[in-house]
This record gives sequence, C-alpha cells and structure tokens, in this order.
Amino acid sequence: MSSPALLDLCIAGHWRPGSGEVYETCYPATGEAVAALRAATPADVDEAIEGAHRAWRASGWGSAKPHERAAVLHRVAGLIRRDAERLAQLQRQDNGKPIAETRALVASAAGTFQYMAAACETLEEAITPSRGPYLTMSVHEPMGVVAAITPWNSPIASEAQKLAPALAAGNAVVLKPAEVTPLLALELARLCDEAGLPKGLLSVLPGKGSVIGDAITRHPLVRRVAFTGGTATGRHIARIAADKMMPVSLELGGKSPTMVLEDADLDHAVAGVLYGIFSSSGESCIAGSRLFVARRIQREFVARLVEGARRLRLGDPADERTQMGPLITAAHRASIERHVQAALDDGGRLLCGGRRPAGGLYERGWFYEPTIVEGLDNRSRLAQEEVFGPVLLVLPFDDDEDLIAQANDSVYALAAGIWTRDFQRAWKLARAVQAGTVWINTYKLFSISTPFGGWRDSGLGREKGREGILQYMEQKSLYWGLNEQPLPWAR
Ligand code: NDP
Repeated sequence: MSSPALLDLCIAGHWRPGSGEVYETCYPATGEAVAALRAATPADVDEAIEGAHRAWRASGWGSAKPHERAAVLHRVAGLIRRDAERLAQLQRQDNGKPIAETRALVASAAGTFQYMAAACETLEEAITPSRGPYLTMSVHEPMGVVAAITPWNSPIASEAQKLAPALAAGNAVVLKPAEVTPLLALELARLCDEAGLPKGLLSVLPGKGSVIGDAITRHPLVRRVAFTGGTATGRHIARIAADKMMPVSLELGGKSPTMVLEDADLDHAVAGVLYGIFSSSGESCIAGSRLFVARRIQREFVARLVEGARRLRLGDPADERTQMGPLITAAHRASIERHVQAALDDGGRLLCGGRRPAGGLYERGWFYEPTIVEGLDNRSRLAQEEVFGPVLLVLPFDDDEDLIAQANDSVYALAAGIWTRDFQRAWKLARAVQAGTVWINTYKLFSISTPFGGWRDSGLGREKGREGILQYMEQKSLYWGLNEQPLPWAR
C-alpha cells in the first residue's frame, strides 16, 4: 500500500511540514496508515510562539470588541457544522471511536464555539461596592499567548473546549494535540483560518509531548497552559509552571466510583453502569471503573451486568450500531492486559472479557473485550490505578459510611455516580463523595454551561461555563478617584 501524502502543520500563519522526523498515524481498527506528517521541533515551537505573539500584537485581537471576536467564533461553529460528517469520519480514523460517538463529539465542538461566542459577547465587568470617594471596578484582560495540550481520547471536543474560551478571551493559542491523533486539531486550524481568525494567532504543533509539549510549557512568552492528560504529565507541567509563576489548568486522570444502592431502578443502573465504563472503550477520564454495589443485590446486579457486557457490540467503528471500537494503540492494549493480569495475580476473578476477541477485523485492530473483575478490595492495584480501558472492578459495600469511606479512598477525585430512588440518601452521598462531578441516576452527561474539573490527583482548575473564559484572562482592579479635594495625606 502506498504511504499517505505528507500533511502540513500550521505554524505562525504558514501551512508547511514540521522540521522533524516523518511519522504516520494509524487507524486503530486496522492498523493501516491514515496520515503522514513531519513532527514539529523545538525550533518550530519558537517560531510558532514568537509568531503568535507578533500576530496578537499586530492584529488587535486582544483589544477587539467582544462581539467582533464572537462573530469569528460563531463562524467557526458554523463551519464545523458544515463539515460535520467529514470531520466525524476523520476522527473515527484518527482514534478509532465508533462513528456515532465521533458525530456527537463534532456536534459538541460546534456547540462549544457557539456557547463561548455567546459568553464572550455577554460577559460583563463588575463595578464593585465602593468604600469611599472613589469608584472601583474589576475588569479582565487577555493574557497574550496561551497553550493548549490535549490527549488522544476525544480530540475535537477537548481541543474546542480549550481553543474556544482561549480565543474568546482575546488570546493567541499554540495547540499541541496528542502525537497519535493530530488530524482534528489541524482541521480546526483550517476552519479558524476560513472563519477569519487573524493569521498566526493559532498554531498547531503535533509531535512528541516530552519534547514539544515541554518546550511549549517552558517558553517565556507562554503565559498559561491548559492541559488534559495523565496525572504524571500534569505534575511535570505544574512544576515548570511554578518556576514561571504561570497559571495552569490540569484535567487529569480518574478512578471514578459508581454506587448502586439496594433501592436503585436496576434497569437504569445496569444501562448506566455499562455506559459509564464501556463507552469509548473505557478510554475516558470519567469512566466509572469502580462499581460499589450494595451487598444485598450484588449477585443479581452483577449477573445482569455481565449479561449486558457480553451483548455489547464490539467492532467496526464505521458501523453505526457499533458500541465499542478498538483501543488507541497496540501499546495501550498491552498496558491494559498488564493491569488485568496483575489483578488476576492479586486474586481477582474474571466474570467476563479479559482477552482479545478473535477472528475477522479483530485480528487486525487493537480490540479488547469488555471486562468485569470481582474478588478484590478497594486497596488492590486494580481499584487504585487508572487503567484507561474497558475494565470494571466490582466492590460490595455494607452501609453508607462504608460506601463513602471506600469511594473516597483514592488519590483521584474526578467523578462519581449514584443510583438510588431515595433522594435524601442521594443528596447526602452526593455531598459526601469527593469528586468534581457527581451524576445521580445518570452518568457521563456533559454540558458546556456546567463547570468540569477534578480534585486532588484528578486536576486543578475548571473548564466550561461562562467563567471558563475568565480562566484565560488576568483580572485587574481599577480605582477611579472622585475626590473634590487633593488627597489629605500630602496636605
Ligand atoms: P499524556 O499525559 O501522556 O498526554 C497528554 C498530552 O500531553 C499529549 O498531547 C502528550 O503528547 C502531552 N505530553 C506528554 N508528555 C509531556 C510533557 N512532558 N510536557 C508537555 N506535554 C506532554 O496522557 P495520555 O495521552 O496517555 O492520555 C490519557 C490520560 O489523560 C489519562 O490519564 C486520562 O485520565 C487523562 N484524561 C483526562 C481527562 C480529563 O478531562 N480529566 C480527559 C481525557 C483524558 P504525546 O501525545 O506526544 O504523548
């Protein structure tokens, strides 16, 4: 098979290859090459950031009226919708997610640009209560050049989630997508060009995170980094940021508890728990990977869950009925296999899955069956370590005190789910569980208007919501003297 043509990167207003090594990206369902690129190098990073800084100053983007910036973001939303099917198919090839899911991600990216355009246009500054003969105001200013670093699991949505508020806030942006999934970030840059974003204001730099991501984070002109990815990388970025005294937002890993109480509607709970862990093949920071189930209903509930997991349609991402696609890379599948083997070595029992499916497409792509394990406790490796794959651990609990103690016993605190008909109990548990997001009788719902982020090792800062824009701005206080006489001190 012939190699794909070399794709250009977007560097300081120019579309050209990077200056680094050529590499290919692969379709995880077949292992076939999808695109070839020359990676960016640290010299490309310097060019992009210096170009972004020049473009930011020369274009007047930061001082443009909010409705003028909003108009560009609205056009980006419209262009994403115009190209929705093409983008969804491209993202399917880029990271192997089922087409139904990539269509939803593309729609969500368009919605994010639309929301941030509206938020930008309607954001108000505050006149704060005065304490003397002066007027006090709190205003916000753009930062200059900010960076966005994103992972491979939901490209267009996670990129829009950073790009739209950062641009709405009046900044220039340098975006580094995951090395293995660069295609949607480049497409977004093309659409931003077409929408009339000033040239050079956005650069997209695919390449190795340890080189390119690191160089971006350290660059003195970069005034903020918005990062989504693993906790170890997040810590590394936070250390660099501490030296530069630079704000960061870190959306990191999770090991989220889903709690099924005795009185839950079991049809809803079975569907919700399956969706929470196995959609996106479990490659989701918010995957509900620890199932706490009331001991009294454990046997019945787990039997239904296993039956449901066995019925999930694992296969061709291009098929609209597919629920689970392949994993992102062979190396990631191998890492999931190591986690499952360690769980079995620790005494865990496999209830289903725990292997690669065989035959047909399964032989070519990086597929792995939905897997359910029981027989371990919450201190076990499988309960404490993020797998980032389709692996669920069943953990029984006796009462609410025991449940909360176990659910909160994790370095992560990103999300949680509660399944019960008892609203008072749901309220108490929702307030007691430590997590950035709690779903009650649902799971993995998202809204751009509701803040998202984690506690502890799951991250720092919040994205989304109207305040999402303010994360990309510096606050400034203004005092207007209204004295009729000179200041008394000098008199
Ligand atoms: P990584 O942390 O390895 O990578 C994320 C991004 O950071 C990639 O673009 C990567 O580049 C880059 N990167 C890697 N090393 C550095 C570095 N030293 N300096 C700067 N950037 C760097 O995470 P994964 O890609 O493995 O993604 C999975 C992780 O992301 C999981 O832990 C998951 O929980 C988390 N995640 C969190 C979400 C949230 O919102 N809380 C959402 C989605 C995922 P490269 O591609 O070259 O490695």
